[in-house]
Amino acid sequence: MRRPLIVGNWKMNGSRSRNAELLGALLSRWQGVHQAEVGVCSPSVYLQQLADCLTGSNIWVGAQDVSPHDSGAYTGEVSAAMLAEMDCHYVIVGHSERREYHGETDALVAQKFAAAQKADIVPILCVGETLAQRDAGDALVVIGEQLKVVIEACGRDAFSQAVIAYEPVWAIGTGRTATPKQAQEVHAFIRDQLGEQGLGVRILYGGSVKGANAADLFAETDIDGALVGGASLKAEEFIEICRAA
Ligand code: PGA
Repeated sequence: MRRPLIVGNWKMNGSRSRNAELLGALLSRWQGVHQAEVGVCSPSVYLQQLADCLTGSNIWVGAQDVSPHDSGAYTGEVSAAMLAEMDCHYVIVGHSERREYHGETDALVAQKFAAAQKADIVPILCVGETLAQRDAGDALVVIGEQLKVVIEACGRDAFSQAVIAYEPVWAIGTGRTATPKQAQEVHAFIRDQLGEQGLGVRILYGGSVKGANAADLFAETDIDGALVGGASLKAEEFIEICRAA
């Protein structure tokens, strides 16, 4: 049995006061969220605030990125051990915005995946194709390669302590969601790539998930939850997605 998982990705949004308001609103509307496991990934400077606000709740604290290095002269980076000290349970690795704007390669993403696990933090590995790649019929080839590099570096067994998020780049923040059928096809493919280990791995869908489209996505066999960007900044909307899981 794979327990549904909903993770909010705040991206570079928030302020101390807005975070407090959002978290307060989430916690006060929590009734009815029984089934799903839930996490929230904030900018790293707010992790302590998250950890403080969420203590005693059943919402996990998560980060959006991690350094592949343990410590040393890496200005601006945050290590997995530091995230663990902030009570981080999850960390997103290989988000398409990091791949695109920060030139993160599959090999670097694999190092970050390993660094997170070394600190007992569960990596949420993001994979997904661009619109041009989908239109060229290459979606599965691209995703297969993104996965293969991590599998080769860390092994299939590493996925027993990991989550995968399929996020078609063309669906992120665009209001354009993959249809449940399109997403299911990719999720089934990803599961298959992991062999036996794939059966237990949770594969989330991400890309313009909203209260209104969540239930149809979650009805697909291989969609185990969602990585939610924009809609995770609105308590009501995020809770609706959590309830649909
Ligand atoms: P979105 O973002 O829900 O705003 O499309 C998803 C993500 O990038 O994780």
